[in-house]
Amino acid sequence: MKKIAILGSTGSIGTQALDLCARHPEEYRVTALTARSSREKLFEQVRRFRPEMAGLADGIRPEEIPEDLRFCRWMSGKEALRAAAAEVEADQVLVSIVGIAGLQSVLDALEAGRQVLLANKEALVTGGHLVMDLARRKGKPILPVDSEHSAIFQCLQAAGPNRATRILLTASGGPFRTWTREQIRRATREQALNHPNWSMGAKITVDSASMFNKGLEIMEARWLFDMPAERIQVVVHPESIVHSAVAFEDGAVLAQLGVPDMRVPIGYAMAYPRRLTTGVAEPDLFSLGKLTFEKPDEERFPSLRMAGEALAAGGAACAVLNGANEEAVAAFLRGEIAFGEIYDRVARALDRLAGLPAGNFEEIFDADRRARAVAKEG
Ligand code: NDP
Ligand code: MG
Repeated sequence: MKKIAILGSTGSIGTQALDLCARHPEEYRVTALTARSSREKLFEQVRRFRPEMAGLADGIRPEEIPEDLRFCRWMSGKEALRAAAAEVEADQVLVSIVGIAGLQSVLDALEAGRQVLLANKEALVTGGHLVMDLARRKGKPILPVDSEHSAIFQCLQAAGPNRATRILLTASGGPFRTWTREQIRRATREQALNHPNWSMGAKITVDSASMFNKGLEIMEARWLFDMPAERIQVVVHPESIVHSAVAFEDGAVLAQLGVPDMRVPIGYAMAYPRRLTTGVAEPDLFSLGKLTFEKPDEERFPSLRMAGEALAAGGAACAVLNGANEEAVAAFLRGEIAFGEIYDRVARALDRLAGLPAGNFEEIFDADRRARAVAKEG
C-alpha cells in the first residue's frame, strides 16, 4: 500500500490522480489533500478519500469545516502546503499546483525524503538546479507527470548504457497553430481556452496557445534529463499521439504513443516502474490513418525564441520569463490585456532583468517578484 499526498487535488491533474487512486484502492491510500480556494470540491474529496490532513492555501476557519469532516486535520495557508509536502506520512507527493508556488513544496517534499511526482513544471523552470541537486543528494529522482517528459522518461527506460543524443519534444501547436501573427495577437480568452486535444487548467491552456508551455517544457527537459537546450528539438504534431521521442547515436528514435489522456503519465509516475490500469484505451492507429509533423514557427510564436534566449542567458532568466508570463496570463484571463500583450510583457521583463542571479531560493524569488512588477506595468 502506497501513501500519497496530493497538492492541488481539486485541479485537472489532481482530480485525475484521485480517479486512479479510486480505481486502485488496494494500492493507494490518500493521506493529504490541498487546494487554494475550492472548498466544496475539497470537502467532497475529503469525504470520499478520508485523508489524515487537508488544507486550503487561501485559509479556512474551524467553524467552516462540516461536522462529518472533522476527523481530518485541517490547515490553512503556507503551513497547509508544508504539512502536506513534508509532515503527513506519505511515500509519494504529487505536486500539481500551478506556478512558482510549487517550488517550495517540491523542495520541502524532497527534504523530507519523499518521492516527488512532478506536474508543476514551473518548479524546474525557476529552480531546476536546486531541485535536481536536492533530489540527487536525497537519492529520490523526480518522476515526471508532464506527458512529454513522461514519454521521454519511458523511452529512456530502454536506453541501457547508452545516452540519448537528442530529445524530440512534441507540441500540439495549440488552437492557433494555423493562425497568422496578427490573428494570434487579437485572440480572445474564449479562443485561447479552446485547446484542440487536451482538457487542462486555465493557465497551462493559455500557455499552450501562446506556446510558452513548450518553452517551459524545454527548460523542464533540460533539467530532468540533463540535456543541453540545443539538443532539444520542438516538433509540432497536431494529433498529440506521439508524446515525445528520444534519439540515439545509431540513428534509432524511440517514441511513446498514446491518446491524449493525462491518466497515463500520472499513473506511470504513481506506479513506476510498474504500469497501472487507467481506464484509457490504446490509440486506434487504423482510424488515425496518419500522423503529421511540422517545424515550429518562432515568428508567429516568439515564446519559443524567448525560451531559447532565457536558457542561453542562464541565471534567473528562466525564472524572469516564468514570473512575467504568470502575471501576464493572469491579466489576460481577467480580460485586462490582449493576447499579444503576453509576448510583449515577457519580452520587456527579459530585456530588463535577464541578467539577475539565481544562486539560491531567495534570489529566485526576488527575480520572480521583479519580473511580475515589470509585467504589471501598463
Ligand atoms: P488547475 O488550475 O486545474 O489546478 C491547480 C490546483 O492547484 C488546484 O487544486 C488549485 O486549487 C491549486 N492551486 C493553484 N494555485 C495554487 C497556489 N498558489 N497555492 C496552492 N494551491 C494552488 O491546474 P492543472 O491541474 O492544469 O495544472 C497543475 C500543474 O500541472 C501546472 O504546473 C501545469 O503546468 C502542470 N501540468 C498540467 C497538465 C494538465 O493536463 N492539466 C499537463 C502537464 C502539466 P483551486 O482549485 O482551489 O484553485
Ligand atoms: Mg506537457
